Formats: sequence, C-alpha cells, structure tokens
Amino acid sequence: MSLTDKYNRPIKDLRISVTDRCNFRCSYCMPAEIYGESYKFLPKEKILTFEEITRLTKIFAELGVTRIRITGGEPLLRKDLSILINQLTSIKNISDISLTTNGFLLEKSVEELVKSGLKRVTVSLDTLDQKIFNQINGRNLKISKILSGIESASNAGLSPIKINCVIKKNINENSILSLIDHFKNTKNIIRYIEYMDVGNVNKWDLSEVVSSKKILEIIKTKYSVKPLSASFKGEVANRYSIVSENGIYKGEIGIISSVTNPFCSNCTRSRLTTDGKLVTCLFSNSGLDLKKELRKGSSNDFIKSLIKDYWSKRTDRYSELRSKKNVSKNKKIEMYQLGG
Ligand code: SAM
Ligand code: SF4
Ligand code: SF4
Repeated sequence: MSLTDKYNRPIKDLRISVTDRCNFRCSYCMPAEIYGESYKFLPKEKILTFEEITRLTKIFAELGVTRIRITGGEPLLRKDLSILINQLTSIKNISDISLTTNGFLLEKSVEELVKSGLKRVTVSLDTLDQKIFNQINGRNLKISKILSGIESASNAGLSPIKINCVIKKNINENSILSLIDHFKNTKNIIRYIEYMDVGNVNKWDLSEVVSSKKILEIIKTKYSVKPLSASFKGEVANRYSIVSENGIYKGEIGIISSVTNPFCSNCTRSRLTTDGKLVTCLFSNSGLDLKKELRKGSSNDFIKSLIKDYWSKRTDRYSELRSKKNVSKNKKIEMYQLGG
C-alpha cells in the first residue's frame, strides 16, 4: 500500500539540497547584509555525502517517490554533481531527475549533467534588466551568463526549460512582459512565482507580494493568453499559451499562486536538507534527522520505518493557514537550506 499522510497525500517528490552555499545573494532568500564574507556555512562533515544521499533516495523511492529535484543553495557549486546524478538515475522507480539553478555556472556543466542522466532544468531569472538583476541578487554579475546557460541547456537537449521568476512589488513587475518578449519564440516556460514568506531573513511582508491575479492583468496589457489544462495531477502552476497573430507562440506561461491560492491539498513534496533532515513543508521549522541515523549505523529498514511514521503523521498546510492565523512570523527554516 502506498504511503500517505493525514490528508491522504502520497509522497511523490523529493527535493534534495546539495549545498547551503550560493554565488548569489538574492534579497528574498540570502540577503547580502546577513550572508557576508564571514558567514559560516555548513562544514563538509555536516553535509550529506553522495553515497548517503543515494542510500536515502533508494529508501524514499521504495516508499513512493518517483521524481527528484536537485537544488540548494546553488547546486552547481557542489563539486562533481554529475556523479550524484549518475548514481540517482540507477535507482529503481525514479523516473525524473531535474535541477533548479540560478544558471550562472550552467553553460560549462550542462553537457556533462545531461550525459549523467539529468532530464530537466529550471533556471531562476527574475529580470532581464541588468541594473535590477544586480539589485536583486546582490552581486555584480552579468545576465548574459544566465542567458548563455539557458541556451546551452537547450542545445544539450533539456528543452523546454522552465524559467522561474519571483515577482516582488516595486522591484521587478516590469520583467513580467520583458520575459515574454524575450522567450515567447522559444519553447521555454516562464513561471511567475508569488513572493513567499519562506524563512525569516527576508522579512517578508504581504504588501510586497504581487498576486497571480495582478501578474495575469499585467500580461494581458500586451498579450492575449489561453488557459491550458494541467499537465499532471498536482501541478502547481496555472498554465497559459500566448496568442500570436497567426496562432500561438512556442513559449508558455505558468503562474504559481503560492500565497493567494495555495495548493496544499495536492502537496506530495518532501525535502532533504543539506545536512540530512527530512522536511515535509517549505515553511517548517524542523525536520527528521536522517543523517544522525545514517551515521550511527541504523539499518535501511529502520530508517524507512522512521520516514514512514513521519510522513504518515504529516498535517502540513501552512499556506492554507497563512491568512487565517498570523503564522508568517513563526521561526522557519531558510529557503537556501531547503532548496524551494
Ligand atoms: N539557487 C538555485 C536557484 O536560485 O534557482 C536553487 C535554490 S533556490 C532557493 C530555488 C527557487 O526558490 C528559486 O527559483 C528562487 O527564485 C526561489 N525562491 C527563493 N526564495 C523565494 C521566496 N522568498 N519566494 C519565492 N520563491 C523563492
Ligand atoms: Fe542563491 Fe537561489 Fe537563494 Fe538566489 S534564490 S540566493 S540563487 S539559493
Ligand atoms: Fe506543501 Fe507546505 Fe507549500 Fe502547503 S505550504 S503546498 S504543505 S510545502
């Protein structure tokens, strides 16, 4: 029998954070003023090894997980990532391995990642305006590097590529249309994401959120769109095609209403933090320490029973409760530790 939680949600996805380090300092995730030069990230011995990640993933796969997403921090900063991907591809029941990256190091690594078994990539890109880009990610980096990364990923066979764009009020609303202008003739999928109250360091405030309704209104000032049906059960984005004069453009749009129209009832995602904790909600403040079990010699069967017990007791529905209770001020794990 498949493993389900208290609301009958199966465990289907595992997001694995392979590093807590990042070469960006996005203000909504890892603000530069907090994560300065002297900030102490996890030491090597506290980070799961590839062997430990693979061993745990096998156990998750036996419990129902079929989709893996590699994330971070910035996952491409983890040395020899293609070795891990290769190990994960050989696990029975795993049908999909994807990666979420800021794209800066993608160009030089994508071919090897694809050879190792990477199936899909999501690249985060919040704007095409160089000034705003630097302002958001707190570093003086060139957008052209991300665009070449996207192109290399396409050439390496990862098309369509999802482009994640977090919209923050008075920061990058202008990017909504310019991203469509840029990508509408490619097969890529632009996904606009409402700014979320993950973690505490970003000092999130509801007034900074641009709702999916507003995002769609902005899109419609220039483009006609046609709703598309969900491509699988539990898909979090509302999908649209973009109407052109002679039909539709190749590109697609997705809007993710994490704040204004939450989707907890379909949430099948589990997360493994860099230091080996199983976390069952993006807004959790704690997790189940699996690294401890691995390192004290617990058997796979025992670890499996712990995961089973943890998931079967899961009652997470933070986003549905956000507006009802004042939960956003709770202490939470930070986004870069969880991977999104
Ligand atoms: N560094 C990689 C990247 O940026 O793609 C992977 C990790 S990042 C934490 C994963 C995703 O979370 C990115 O698409 C990022 O834009 C998104 N994200 C981070 N903080 C967010 C927030 N407060 N609200 C919404 N999305 C957020
Ligand atoms: Fe780094 Fe991704 Fe967080 Fe930006 S969103 S600081 S790129 S982990
Ligand atoms: Fe899933 Fe938690 Fe997000 Fe709800 S709030 S969709 S339970 S991660």
